Amino acid sequence: MLPQTIRMTKNGILCEINNKRIHLDPKNTVTTGINFVSHAHFDHLPSKKNGTILTSVETNEIASLRGFKIVNHVQHIDDFSLIDSGHILGSKGLLFDDVFYTGDICTRNRGFLKGAIIPKCKTLITECTFGLPEFIFPKLDEIQKKVNELISDLYSKGIPVILLGYQLGKAQTITQLFGHWGPLYFHDSIKEMNVLHQRFGVPLKEGIGHTEAERNGFLAKKPWMMIVPMMSEKNPFLRNMKSKYGAVTIGFSGWAQSSRFAFGRRADYSFPLSDHCDFNELVDLVKYSGAEQVYTIHGFVEEFAEYLRKIGVNAQPLRENSLDDFI
Ligand SMILES: [Zn+2]
Ligand SMILES: [Zn+2]
Repeated sequence: MLPQTIRMTKNGILCEINNKRIHLDPKNTVTTGINFVSHAHFDHLPSKKNGTILTSVETNEIASLRGFKIVNHVQHIDDFSLIDSGHILGSKGLLFDDVFYTGDICTRNRGFLKGAIIPKCKTLITECTFGLPEFIFPKLDEIQKKVNELISDLYSKGIPVILLGYQLGKAQTITQLFGHWGPLYFHDSIKEMNVLHQRFGVPLKEGIGHTEAERNGFLAKKPWMMIVPMMSEKNPFLRNMKSKYGAVTIGFSGWAQSSRFAFGRRADYSFPLSDHCDFNELVDLVKYSGAEQVYTIHGFVEEFAEYLRKIGVNAQPLRENSLDDFI
């Protein structure tokens, strides 16, 4: 068996295994070796696009919509398995040579997104965005119930409701969970992303884009529901919607679970709904994988690795110039 090295470089995670160089979500793609792009959130899309890029068809399409045209796109390379990571449409983890890289991952079912099924592996490279015990999310049906009650109350007073969630991922989930409230409007950027999801067979309720709704005076007839990308309450768009129509905002973010992270509670009302694993789900993911070595990336890397070591799992954060490179 040839030595494997896994290390964090300035250009992201580099694995050298069996004489192959695999770059996991690199900042810039390279022409030597394989570049893997896990999904189309901006922080995972490479800025340069040379070389062979392994990614899903959906990620390729969403990347194009977002202005990241991938040239040498491949969906399959022998000995590399793309595993659904349940984070957003087209998101994948990568399994190769007993190593599993999660990308961004969620093991909980949410609407059209089915939770990831974790493969067995010897080495696990896992994100830990919510790797602190204070991030244990309520069940989805509890959140749905509370939000529906809140919307019902606001509607009974004739108050329009704005639901806030990331343009890619969260916005489509909240369209599915709460799109039965009407009339339904979308911020134009979300309408565009929803149309792309519909092309991939995701059933999403139709609605009118905000420019068209405003132009035709539809918003004057209250109440209504609009789905808008997560943004500051100071954003002119939200300020306008609030002053002109008296709209109330409901934000959806995993960060809303903890009172310590104010940016998770910027809206008038906030609910913890996330496209990532919570703390318990991360621990279960690690246990289920059966990994002998875990590397933590993104989020509370020190704290989560320390917790894993306490429960008997060999774990370290993957850092640049780490001395724990070799496995
Ligand atoms: Zn992501
Ligand atoms: Zn991410």
